[in-house]
Amino acid sequence: MFQADQILVRIPASRLPDNARLILFSGRSVILDGSELPGPGRAAALLSAVPIRTPDHFRSIGFSGPQCFAAAELERPLPDPLPGGLTAVPLRAALAQSAGDVKEALCRAKKILSWLDLHRFCGRCRTELQDSDTDSALFCPVCGARYFPQLAPAVIVAVTRNEGREILLAHNRNFEGNVHSLIAGFVEAGETVEQAVEREVMEETSIRVGNIRYLRSQPWPFPNSLMLAFRAEYLSGTATPDGSELDSLGWFRPDALPPLPRQGSVAAAVIRDWCASLRNS
Ligand SMILES: [Zn+2]
Repeated sequence: MFQADQILVRIPASRLPDNARLILFSGRSVILDGSELPGPGRAAALLSAVPIRTPDHFRSIGFSGPQCFAAAELERPLPDPLPGGLTAVPLRAALAQSAGDVKEALCRAKKILSWLDLHRFCGRCRTELQDSDTDSALFCPVCGARYFPQLAPAVIVAVTRNEGREILLAHNRNFEGNVHSLIAGFVEAGETVEQAVEREVMEETSIRVGNIRYLRSQPWPFPNSLMLAFRAEYLSGTATPDGSELDSLGWFRPDALPPLPRQGSVAAAVIRDWCASLRNS
């Protein structure tokens, strides 16, 4: 089982343990050895050809049994092909094909490195921040401000009607091709997650929903979301895309679904579970 490191220890590149699994990011890609994360031996040729951005250290991310995960961002550009038979794979694709410990470590590593990159100086007094040695915070040695890795809670909702037999799916302008997915959006400050579900569905599709029930959650590192998935029932209104985020939508039955988000996303899991629940009913 993956366990997150509570203290973001710096591990000197020269002292990576042999059993470490390295999470090396290059922009939106991550370096893989086949379908696995490389160890220090397999990554040695790459690391001697391409420096890491924090020249002297990796960050500990967590561990699984005796194995630890250490992450760093590589300088760009990367040589093509990569030395040592390694490949650079888009992070979204790597998340779709990975599971369990590796998936959790990838999500946490992406979040932590992005957060560290954006929190080098104190927002109050501009002093350079330092690592805490008691928790995962950064702190300001001058004014004492402490900064913890931030999460952005987002709701994603499977709206159904006709006794749950039809689901509302929409095409976002940023989606590839004709991919349709669930309605989603960030929780606003001061809002409950149920209010966020009602508001997002109304803003994006002009319908009212009720009977909102929590389903599951999933961290999603683009850039720092915690996806909270819900079911909700259609109450009233005519579903209409908002024209800004969404350009089309529709009510779909399980036997006539449009192209769906790729496996590994919470949306794919929720839609799959909805189809299964209808088969079993
Ligand atoms: Zn300060």
